[in-house]
Amino acid sequence: MLAVEYGSSVAQLLHGHGYGPGHSVSARAVSEGVWRKCPACDYVGAPASIAHHTKKAHAAAIGEQTQGAGR
Ligand SMILES: [Zn+2]
Repeated sequence: MLAVEYGSSVAQLLHGHGYGPGHSVSARAVSEGVWRKCPACDYVGAPASIAHHTKKAHAAAIGEQTQGAGR
Protein backbone atom coordinates (compact mmCIF):
# COMPACT_ATOMS: atom_id res chain seq x y z
CA MET A 1 0.00 0.00 0.00
CA LEU A 2 1.30 3.47 -0.87
CA ALA A 3 2.25 5.81 1.95
CA VAL A 4 -0.01 8.54 0.58
CA GLU A 5 -2.90 6.12 0.41
CA TYR A 6 -2.18 5.00 3.94
CA GLY A 7 -2.40 8.49 5.38
CA SER A 8 -5.77 9.27 3.82
CA SER A 9 -7.30 5.90 4.58
CA VAL A 10 -6.63 5.86 8.32
CA ALA A 11 -9.73 7.88 9.16
CA GLN A 12 -11.92 5.64 7.03
CA LEU A 13 -10.16 2.62 8.47
CA LEU A 14 -10.88 3.59 12.06
CA HIS A 15 -14.42 4.54 11.16
CA GLY A 16 -14.86 1.13 9.59
CA HIS A 17 -13.77 -0.47 12.84
CA GLY A 18 -16.49 1.34 14.73
CA TYR A 19 -14.46 4.32 15.91
CA GLY A 20 -16.57 7.43 15.59
CA PRO A 21 -15.63 11.10 15.92
CA GLY A 22 -15.61 10.63 19.67
CA HIS A 23 -12.62 8.34 19.32
CA SER A 24 -10.50 10.72 17.26
CA VAL A 25 -7.71 10.07 19.78
CA SER A 26 -7.15 6.75 18.02
CA ALA A 27 -6.82 8.37 14.60
CA ARG A 28 -4.51 10.98 16.08
CA ALA A 29 -2.36 8.30 17.67
CA VAL A 30 -1.97 6.61 14.27
CA SER A 31 -1.24 9.84 12.41
CA GLU A 32 1.39 10.79 14.97
CA GLY A 33 3.07 7.42 14.64
CA VAL A 34 2.27 6.28 18.18
CA TRP A 35 0.14 3.52 16.73
CA ARG A 36 0.83 1.53 13.61
CA LYS A 37 -1.34 -0.15 11.04
CA CYS A 38 -0.77 -3.80 10.24
CA PRO A 39 0.74 -4.01 6.71
CA ALA A 40 -1.24 -7.17 5.99
CA CYS A 41 -4.69 -6.16 7.22
CA ASP A 42 -6.67 -3.32 8.80
CA TYR A 43 -5.55 -3.94 12.37
CA VAL A 44 -4.40 -0.78 14.17
CA GLY A 45 -2.58 -0.59 17.49
CA ALA A 46 0.60 0.16 19.37
CA PRO A 47 3.83 -1.28 17.88
CA ALA A 48 3.85 -3.99 20.55
CA SER A 49 0.26 -4.88 19.76
CA ILE A 50 1.03 -4.97 16.04
CA ALA A 51 3.96 -7.32 16.64
CA HIS A 52 1.81 -9.62 18.75
CA HIS A 53 -1.05 -9.45 16.24
CA THR A 54 1.26 -10.16 13.30
CA LYS A 55 2.73 -13.24 14.97
CA LYS A 56 -0.70 -14.51 15.91
CA ALA A 57 -2.74 -13.61 12.81
CA HIS A 58 -0.13 -13.70 10.05
CA ALA A 59 2.26 -16.41 11.21
CA ALA A 60 1.71 -18.29 7.93
CA ALA A 61 2.60 -15.23 5.84
CA ILE A 62 5.80 -14.73 7.84
CA GLY A 63 6.70 -18.38 7.34
CA GLU A 64 6.21 -18.03 3.59
CA GLN A 65 8.50 -15.02 3.50
CA THR A 66 11.18 -16.91 5.40
CA GLN A 67 10.94 -19.85 3.03
CA GLY A 68 11.10 -17.61 -0.03
CA ALA A 69 14.24 -15.89 1.27
CA GLY A 70 16.00 -19.21 1.80
CA ARG A 71 15.20 -20.46 -1.67
ZN1 LIG B 1 -2.86 -7.99 10.44
